[in-house]
Amino acid sequence: MVACDGLNSKTRTDYAEHFQPDIDTRKCKFVWLGTHQKFDDAFTFIFEETDKGWVWAHAYQFDDETATFIVECSQETWDAYGFGEMTKEDSIATCEEIFKDHLDGHALISNAHHVRGSAWLSFPRVLCNSWSHDNIVLMGDAAATAHFSIGSGTKLALESAIALANYLHSETDLKSAFGKYEDERRLEVLRLQSAARNSMEWFEEIERYFDFDPVQFTYSLLTRSQRISHENLRLRDAKWLGEAEGWFQRQAGVPANDGVRHPMFVPFKLREMELKTESLCPRWPIIRRLMAAPTDCHLVHYAPTGQGWCSNGLYRDDLCVG
Ligand SMILES: Cc1cc2nc3c(=O)[nH]c(=O)nc-3n(C[C@H](O)[C@H](O)[C@H](O)COP(=O)(O)OP(=O)(O)OC[C@H]3O[C@@H](n4cnc5c(N)ncnc54)[C@H](O)[C@@H]3O)c2cc1C
Repeated sequence: MVACDGLNSKTRTDYAEHFQPDIDTRKCKFVWLGTHQKFDDAFTFIFEETDKGWVWAHAYQFDDETATFIVECSQETWDAYGFGEMTKEDSIATCEEIFKDHLDGHALISNAHHVRGSAWLSFPRVLCNSWSHDNIVLMGDAAATAHFSIGSGTKLALESAIALANYLHSETDLKSAFGKYEDERRLEVLRLQSAARNSMEWFEEIERYFDFDPVQFTYSLLTRSQRISHENLRLRDAKWLGEAEGWFQRQAGVPANDGVRHPMFVPFKLREMELKTESLCPRWPIIRRLMAAPTDCHLVHYAPTGQGWCSNGLYRDDLCVG
């Protein structure tokens, strides 16, 4: 039996001693809504500051007529609104009011018709230690979940379904088919869960970023899962990245008429310490110390010339001891 009964899988719960699920219920609260308002093909993120705290939406076109509209906020903001005590209708009306400038008069719609109460959830990150037991195998969200902010859960579930179907055909018994399926898919699932965790934590810690300049905020948002690197951003939107690089080097004091250079070659200043570039090459014995937070020891070494340790010849290992 293939148990693909979703993130609250009853099968997984019934056989929990065999599947050994690790369920990590996360900090933010979210509600999954829809709307007939149109959004771009790409993800749209909307951040609204309210008198009760920040509330944000993840929106994307679902089909020609409908867009998914997930509203999320911290537990503190959620408590301040009293969403937990509201009816679903009041909760939706409150979200409509918060995002009215982006909805163009369109309503927010709930798909949780069967749910009483406000329909808000905390995201459970699920990973099972084992994906099969006797003739039962877990698939999709029942086996593992990835936070919705990277939008890959369905892809993950479908790829797992394909792998399972292939092994059920190629293997002579269920045990070996289930074993090969799990071996193949577990690594991919862990990879995606790692990116999803980075993205989820970015949203959980989002209030740290609201003071950023909009360019820096956008860069941070785009690279939050760490699957999209600096150079990968260039492939996706070279113009935007070039402008962001220009902004970054002007912040670092490079004259406005200097050509745009890679951020690695932009001066770096930390209190009185100023380096000509962001690249350093430590001597081997002290690499381990460099992995730690900067201390006076780094200031002593770097400050004299503002260059890396290899080039200035002024380092003394004994200064770092202790
Ligand atoms: C808010 C939110 C937004 C998301 N957005 C995206 C996105 O944009 N892109 C993306 O790829 N993924 C997204 N995901 C993730 C995606 O929805 C899931 O990863 C995907 O649906 C998993 O598929 P599944 O078949 O395992 O589970 P589900 O789609 O949950 O399907 C499980 C099915 O089993 C049924 N079921 C449950 N119990 C029983 C039972 N006892 N008997 C019979 N049937 C039962 C349920 O009714 C349900 O139909 C999102 C998730 C969330 C929470």
